[in-house]
Amino acid sequence: MGLGTGMDIIVCIKQVVVGDQVRIDPRTRSVVRSAEFSRMNPFDLFALDMAAQLKREYSGSITAITMGPKISEEALWEALSLGADRAVLLSDSRFAAGDTLATSYVLGMGIRKIGPFDLILCGVRTTDSDTGQVGPQLAEDLDIPHVTGVEKLERRADLFRVERVSDGFREVLEAPSPSLFTVSPKAEVRFPSLVEIQDAFSKYEIECWNLEDIGADPNQVGNAGSRTWVEELVPAPQQKSCAFIQGDPRQQAQSLFTRLIDKGLLS
Ligand code: FAD
Repeated sequence: MGLGTGMDIIVCIKQVVVGDQVRIDPRTRSVVRSAEFSRMNPFDLFALDMAAQLKREYSGSITAITMGPKISEEALWEALSLGADRAVLLSDSRFAAGDTLATSYVLGMGIRKIGPFDLILCGVRTTDSDTGQVGPQLAEDLDIPHVTGVEKLERRADLFRVERVSDGFREVLEAPSPSLFTVSPKAEVRFPSLVEIQDAFSKYEIECWNLEDIGADPNQVGNAGSRTWVEELVPAPQQKSCAFIQGDPRQQAQSLFTRLIDKGLLS
């Protein structure tokens, strides 16, 4: 598909568990998810930010999509308040306990139902499962090209021109429409204001689709559709330790020097 006048963008967003609140169900070896300790994957804010910039520049539309339990709606409301025009939640108990392949399959089926698009933007990775596999796997599922870790994206005639930094080099690549890009984090990102959040609630609705709605094969979703599984889960040994140094500033500095010298880090 060539690029028309506007750009129809799909942004994939995951609701993740807040960093220090990750708890594992010992029976299922799955992450325990609750509304209280969930938030939008911070890396997806950069994808959303890039989509909003592209929409400002070229016009078009932004559809935010997520696969997850009902609580994932919160991330979609946030996306709507940051410039998305449409939000789709793919939710079904049969989607649970899937690996990245099953997740990508469900997202692919949902995106097929959304209809034609020019590009898909994803975060580079998530802060909970953190595999960085979903973007590339989704592109494979949809049989479209992808580039990871994109910092800059512009439109050149019928192509996307993207820049990424790798091994100390800035690479410039071109890809046709439609393509998928994972977006590299940058220094700053915008958060929605209270007014924008309020506006989103009054203007939009979230579409919720289950397995039948997207025409998915039950054997390719959730546990049944997973080709990998968690065999064992043990806490990794902590490599860092934290010590509080007591005393007035002079004593603290002296104590710190002594510790660094003892460890051979200063002589
Ligand atoms: P990444 O690949 O790191 O994410 C990259 C980008 O892809 C994100 O920034 C976002 O843009 C997009 N993305 C990722 N996930 C979604 C999503 N759900 N919706 C929309 N966009 C998304 N989880 C369970 O809850 N139960 C299990 O039993 C379970 N078993 C697993 C077994 C294995 C072997 C593995 C590897 C994972 C398992 N998971 C399980 C985790 C689950 O597969 C991942 O949460 C999910 O596939 C997303 O992977 P990720 O977080 O690594 O995403």
